[in-house]
Amino acid sequence: MTWHRQHLLDLQSLTPEELNTVLVTAQVFKKVGERAIKKVPALRGKTVINLFVEPSTRTRISFELAALRLSADVINFTAEASSLKKGETLKDTLHNLESLNADFIILRHGASGAPHFLSRFARSHIVNAGDGAHEHPTQGLLDTFTIFERKGRIEGLNVTILGDILYSRVARSNIWALVKLGAKVTLCGPSTLVPRVFESLHPQIKVTWDLEQALRGADVVNLLRIQHERQRASAFPSIGEYASLFGLNAARMKWIRPDALIMHPGPINRGVEIESDVADGDQSVILQQVTNGLAVRMAVLFLLNGGRASELGI
Ligand code: ASP
Repeated sequence: MTWHRQHLLDLQSLTPEELNTVLVTAQVFKKVGERAIKKVPALRGKTVINLFVEPSTRTRISFELAALRLSADVINFTAEASSLKKGETLKDTLHNLESLNADFIILRHGASGAPHFLSRFARSHIVNAGDGAHEHPTQGLLDTFTIFERKGRIEGLNVTILGDILYSRVARSNIWALVKLGAKVTLCGPSTLVPRVFESLHPQIKVTWDLEQALRGADVVNLLRIQHERQRASAFPSIGEYASLFGLNAARMKWIRPDALIMHPGPINRGVEIESDVADGDQSVILQQVTNGLAVRMAVLFLLNGGRASELGI
C-alpha cells in the first residue's frame, strides 16, 4: 500500500484506499512511538521546513517531532520573524526554500487555498497544516485514526461534530474522511454557524440545531472551538449564551451513550464548548488524539516520500 501523490492538500480528494493506507501505516508508527528507541531512518538526509504563517502549538510541535523521529533535518520558520514581513511573496519564499533543498514544506496559512496555490509551483512535497477555514487534513486523519483505534471501525458509526462548523477547517477535513469511510455525520451548533447547506456536500451528512438529538445517537462527539479569529460578525449574542445552550457539561453527558468518545482538536476553551469535568473525564480521548497526531504525521511524511508500511519490518 503506497501513496502516489506529491502533496497532501486536503482530504476531499483522497480515496477511501488512500485513507485506509494512512490508518494502517499510522498503526505501525504508533508502535514505533511506544518503543525505547522511537526513531527510524526513513527520512534520513531529507529536509522538512515548517512554514507557519498562522499561530499553532500542537500541529507545529507534532510535525517537528514526526520529522525528527523519521530522522529528517527540520527547520522551523515563523512568519513573524521572516521576510514575509518585508513583502516577499509566498511563491518567492517557496523558491528560496527549495533552493536550500527543502524536501517537504509544511504550510499553515490563514488563506484558504494557500497550499493548493503553492503546490502549482512546488518541486517539494507540500503538506497542508491548516488553511483558513478550508481544511486541516492531518487533524482529520488523526481524528479518524483515533476513532478507528477505539471503535475498531469507521463504517456505520454516528459521529456528531458540535460547534463552529462554518469557520472550522477541522470540521471539513473530518467530514470528508468520515463519509468516505462510511460514517454518518451529524453537524450541530447555532444555526448561524451550522447552515443547512452542509447537507448538500454528501448524503451521509445531517444538520440539526437540536443538541439533545445530536448527542443521543452519537458514537463519537467531536467538539470545536469558536473560531473568533475568522468570524467577521458575531454569530451569537455572547460566549456565556453559547456555553449555556451548546457547551458540553455533566448534565448533557446524560444524553450521551456511556461508550461514546468525546473528542476535541484543541486548543480547548474550558467553560465554553466544554466543561473541565467532561474534558478530563473517562470518555474524553483528547490527549490520545495528540499522541495519535504524531503517528499520523509520521505516516503522512513517510507515504509522501514513497514509503510503504510493509518495508518497515515492525
Ligand atoms: N487547532 C485547530 C486548527 O488549527 C482547531 C482550532 O484552532 O480550534 O484549526
